[in-house]
Amino acid sequence: IIIWNECMKNYILALTIFLSSCSFEQANNDEVVIYTSRQPQLIENLLNVFTEETEIQVTILSGDAQQLMERIAVEGVDTDADIFMTVDAGVLWQAADKGIFDPVESEVLSSRIPQHLRDLDNQWFGFSKRARTIVYSKKDIDPEDLSTYEALATEQFENKLCLRTSKKVYNRSLIASMIEANGLERTKRVVKGWVNNLAEPVFSSDTNVLKAVEAGNCSLTVVNTYYLARLIESNSAENLGIFWANQEDRGVHVNISGAGLVKWSNNKNSSIQLLEWLSSDTAQEMYAKANKEYPSVDGIPLHPLIEAWGDFQEDLIQVDKLGSKQSDAVFIAQEAGYN
Ligand code: FE
Repeated sequence: IIIWNECMKNYILALTIFLSSCSFEQANNDEVVIYTSRQPQLIENLLNVFTEETEIQVTILSGDAQQLMERIAVEGVDTDADIFMTVDAGVLWQAADKGIFDPVESEVLSSRIPQHLRDLDNQWFGFSKRARTIVYSKKDIDPEDLSTYEALATEQFENKLCLRTSKKVYNRSLIASMIEANGLERTKRVVKGWVNNLAEPVFSSDTNVLKAVEAGNCSLTVVNTYYLARLIESNSAENLGIFWANQEDRGVHVNISGAGLVKWSNNKNSSIQLLEWLSSDTAQEMYAKANKEYPSVDGIPLHPLIEAWGDFQEDLIQVDKLGSKQSDAVFIAQEAGYN
């Protein structure tokens, strides 16, 4: 496996611009190039197994999701990218909206990946699930008092809530799921209620907000569960408890990481083979465990740490709605004063 970082590539490109008209060697038939915002260490072991099994080489170009997506759109037919892989259905929806994907009609993918976790036109597929739920301080909160995301807006939690900024797509997607379930007006009231209940200004990351709950500066937050798993692993989550939200109604908000076939790929067969392989039992287990996420395919063994949290009912919203309702979510966050 070959890993490039976008900045490195630009640097090398600058050095070689007089020597060569192209920064990458032309991909041969046995090579798939992935442009990805995922950290290379989360996928490299997995891709090595793919290469061992198929003799198809994989090259990763890692970087920021927006920049990579933009870059593929600008490079067009000249792009080296065969696959774009990223996190959050909101981002994948945007990539599809920019027209960088080709739909993949695959028996394997449509039978393996549950329908709600992929694009309805098969432009992208979710390969892992990311649950975003309530985490509370065991010192301050009785989990008996917890129920839903919406209930975090009630007076009971005044001055107790801390949240990551709404600029992060994860929260926009969460708000989008509430718009789908409850409508615009009620969602606006809920988000306003959250803002009223804030104990501190919004945080820059899920990890920082968890640390604030652990330290006792806040009593409650909403985060992606793998961030909690990381803190547990480093023994810095002594006071933190996890609560599965909305179990009496639609279920916990679940987002995805996923990928699609780039429209201008010149190695579509091997690229589709890789996408299909990502839905296999072996790949699903490795892929989900690497970042302590949940596999998209049912019945795959979980990382022991997240297995211990038990089962939960997930919101079965069609995940591309998290993209199509993204601009409404941004509007509501602004209206509610959620920075
Ligand atoms: Fe994350």
